[in-house]
Amino acid sequence: MASLSGKVQTVLGLVEPSQLGCTMTHEHLTMDYTCCYVPPSSGQETLSDEPIEMKNLFWIKQNPYSHKENLLLYQETDAVKEELLQYKAAGGGTIVENTTMGISRDVKTLKKLSQETGVHVIAGAGFYVHHTHSSETQAMSVEQLTDIIMHEILSGADGTNIKCGVVGEIGCSWPLTESENKVLQATAHAQSQLGCPIIIHPGRNSNAPFQILRILQEAGADISKTVISHLDRTIFDEKKLLEFAKLGCYLEYDLFGTEILNYHFNPDRDMPSDNERIARVRMLIDEGYEDRIVIAHDIHTKNRLMKYGGHGYSHILKNIVPKMLLRGISQNRIDKILIDNPKQWLTFK
Ligand SMILES: [Zn+2]
Repeated sequence: MASLSGKVQTVLGLVEPSQLGCTMTHEHLTMDYTCCYVPPSSGQETLSDEPIEMKNLFWIKQNPYSHKENLLLYQETDAVKEELLQYKAAGGGTIVENTTMGISRDVKTLKKLSQETGVHVIAGAGFYVHHTHSSETQAMSVEQLTDIIMHEILSGADGTNIKCGVVGEIGCSWPLTESENKVLQATAHAQSQLGCPIIIHPGRNSNAPFQILRILQEAGADISKTVISHLDRTIFDEKKLLEFAKLGCYLEYDLFGTEILNYHFNPDRDMPSDNERIARVRMLIDEGYEDRIVIAHDIHTKNRLMKYGGHGYSHILKNIVPKMLLRGISQNRIDKILIDNPKQWLTFK
């Protein structure tokens, strides 16, 4: 694809990779996460419908998926705009907004937010996890799915001419379903034709990222252009993580800002803290993977916004970077993680 080659595709059009600056590689600015509502534990049922107020903020922070209004990020465009302006003032340049079909992608709103804030926004093509696939999607062939993904990159998404610049986040469950397997193959086919970046949401099992890379690779994808998201909650064992790192994809730690007692989607595991994430990033750098690390917050609920007492889109720039410096990660390496690696990944081959 000569016209895309060497460029990055934002919701406002093609830009030179050098224009991106600091980039969060996995965020959401508008989406609906109602698909993943978790009923509250017994005795707490009434809390799920309460308005968001100071007195229930701690409960919402600990039970983000059990509060119905908290899942409606799409209602907060004004607050998101204000926080993007703060992100820009803090040195931010670009946001990868990888909301896909199934969680209410809205490229028109993304375009407006980018125009009004000056932050580059890159939209995501493709499909979220199986239980958000429509019956039509589930019935499609790999070829039909590939056509949809390619159309979203070459012509526009959601019935507009606003184009996606990345495939994903492609949703995968554990175990992987047949429909998700087809979407992964379609992702690989689109990628091998367009040379575009890919980003994957793996199932919650340490074997999931290995299986996903295998499927992508067998279908012809370029693993070096692929981000595996959410490693914070997926591969806990250090030896296994280093085994995975050898495969050559980008390793994403994207739940910065999430510190929680119980992880409702996987109660058997403890969600790491920000300090533990920094230690993991440091370990991967020490093992020689500084060219493969990317980071983000994956904001997808209201409580993560500053408007509701959350950390907002500037948390990494304002709080995590100083802590990384304090823990011996050099500015040079931080620049690699925030600027150079995202730039390499997002540039079409
Ligand atoms: Zn996400």
